[in-house]
Amino acid sequence: LPQGSSNREAFLKASSFLEDCGVLEPQNNARLLLEYVLGLEGAAYYMALPDAFPAERISAFEEAVNRKGQGEPAQYIIGRQEFYGLPFMVSPAVLIPRPETELLVEAVMLHGDRLWPGGTPLAADIGTGSGAIAVTLAVKRTGWHVEASDISPEALAVAAQNAAANGAAVQFREGDLLAPFAGERVDILVSNPPYIPADDIAGLQREVREHEPRTALDGGPDGLGPYRTMMAQLALLAAPPRLVGFELGQGQAEDVADLLRVAGHWDEIIVVPDLAGIDRHVMGIRNKG
Ligand code: GLN
Repeated sequence: LPQGSSNREAFLKASSFLEDCGVLEPQNNARLLLEYVLGLEGAAYYMALPDAFPAERISAFEEAVNRKGQGEPAQYIIGRQEFYGLPFMVSPAVLIPRPETELLVEAVMLHGDRLWPGGTPLAADIGTGSGAIAVTLAVKRTGWHVEASDISPEALAVAAQNAAANGAAVQFREGDLLAPFAGERVDILVSNPPYIPADDIAGLQREVREHEPRTALDGGPDGLGPYRTMMAQLALLAAPPRLVGFELGQGQAEDVADLLRVAGHWDEIIVVPDLAGIDRHVMGIRNKG
């Protein structure tokens, strides 16, 4: 980028570079990276477009745009992703929180409010990653007691930072799925576990395949491994949860609903489609304690 360029010229140059690299949504990505490098957002960013691009930020902007051009997700470059209107720090140690998962949080709050009106259920977010689900539940349902597990200490460090930044009191435990809750009571079990069949990982978008953590994606040979493990681990708990909310991949709803049916602890099993019409969440509900 030549010295003396305007912010708008920086944007246009980055957009066409990213487009040439085959990046999806080149303009959106160019804007995100420019907002990040300028430290401006929304209206303030648009107001600044005619201004001169600050000379001392040229190398930072070029580096960010080059990383994006090589397929790195913008969220890892800028280090953040919003979830449920809350700010989350993300690094390559964690999956980038997805908008579909906001619907899981919404559904869990809806049914939780109904099952524990004014009560204080214990909710466990299994495989918390960035902490998106756990932190959001703790912020939006201050009466609930929220805990979370992850097998990755690096992910837990990110999640703990996100809990602190959002003022959320979440207790984090390191371990495999439900194992850290052995012997304890869990009222609400919520999880967006790794669910991609191992052989399908090679066919994922490059940004996901090459940059998001494999442990956050790989669900074993048929992608259902973590759901099976969690159903088996229910026996470790003091009692089976009254509410279960799982996120899943395309085509997995019937199999996951069957796993819940076989476990047999729930009166109702509900399949919830996402905004694209894909069956995305399966919930198990037991109406009486
Ligand atoms: N629970 C986290 C999320 O929904 C991480 C999920 C994962 O890594 N599979 O974003």
